[in-house]
Amino acid sequence: MAKEDYYELLGVPRNASDSDIKKSFRRLAMKYHPDRNRDNPTAEEQFKKVKEAYDVLSDPKKRSAYDQFGHAGVDPSMGAAGGFGFTGESFSDIFSDVFGDIFGAGATGRRRGSRVQRGADLRYNLEITLEEAVAGTEVKIRVPTLVTCEECNGTGTKKGTAPTTCSTCQGHGAIRMQQGFFAVQQTCPTCHGTGQQIKDPCRVCHGQGRVQETKTLSVKIPAGVDTGDRIRLAGEGEAGESGGPPGDLYVQIAVKEHPIFTRDGANLYCEVPISFPTACLGGELEVPTLDGKVVLKIPAETQTGKLFRLRGKGVKPVRGGPQGDLLCRVRIETPVHLNKDQVELIKQLDDSLSGGGSHHSPQAHGWLDGVKQFFDKLGL
Ligand SMILES: [Zn+2]
Ligand SMILES: [Zn+2]
Repeated sequence: MAKEDYYELLGVPRNASDSDIKKSFRRLAMKYHPDRNRDNPTAEEQFKKVKEAYDVLSDPKKRSAYDQFGHAGVDPSMGAAGGFGFTGESFSDIFSDVFGDIFGAGATGRRRGSRVQRGADLRYNLEITLEEAVAGTEVKIRVPTLVTCEECNGTGTKKGTAPTTCSTCQGHGAIRMQQGFFAVQQTCPTCHGTGQQIKDPCRVCHGQGRVQETKTLSVKIPAGVDTGDRIRLAGEGEAGESGGPPGDLYVQIAVKEHPIFTRDGANLYCEVPISFPTACLGGELEVPTLDGKVVLKIPAETQTGKLFRLRGKGVKPVRGGPQGDLLCRVRIETPVHLNKDQVELIKQLDDSLSGGGSHHSPQAHGWLDGVKQFFDKLGL
């Protein structure tokens, strides 16, 4: 099968910048993560392809070799000079490499073919406020889980007794079966691969080695997290069977809606109503930020919808990068509940402004001219 084009694999144009390539890789790496693709066996394969493409395109030397010679420039099996190999890194290595910054160190990954069963991963959905997401926080969570039985230390045997060697497989954990011409190795059905049998089960866990318990954990939420981020607590998942290693706990972050601010990446947005006189004459306005009020200067003749940028008043992203801005969009509020005198004053103002023609409302006149031209073209 012909190898797929690295740029196409990453979904970026050939002139994509390094940061675009990285961004696209992160997105795809998330998409093909096996935890999100338990029913999709091709996801890991796709991940490896994407990773290989990223390895080449993120390295300026390899990228230029690939641009010049294609796969032959970077594929050692083609025998070209300057080639390199895609090392068979395990999935967890790749992943902790990419997401180590937020998932924390000590990623255990999946152990294949080990005789003891690793415990299941757990997921905990955590809702936090925008303030907590921006500043970081520490929360206590209660997680119902399976923990190692203290009575038997996870062995599943009654105190004072020890598991015996499995009589079916003689402790090998696997048995050989003859199927036609071939001998097939299979996990032992009696001991499920542990090689041991429990004659006298523990009275607390009934031989399971694990018991149900609600654990209270303290989770550090780093500053700058956003909805969709996950924090991995290595080893805090379910205890493994027969004393096997525990799974991991994933804390899935969701940030609650804020009454004032909406967030888009590192930037925050808010809408600020200003009075008609302030919009005309200019003035000062107190606006909220996440770390207190600031005074926003409104210049005279400000139109509705104008966006004011408060630099550095946004969010510092959890994966690094500059702090975002706060963008305040002003909306001119039409005065309501006018009394007779006020209505009279507005009428007077209107008369006075109408006398000035396009001078006082260039937008409206520009728009009306456009409408006129449009109708003229149609011959109306
Ligand atoms: Zn056995
Ligand atoms: Zn026990």
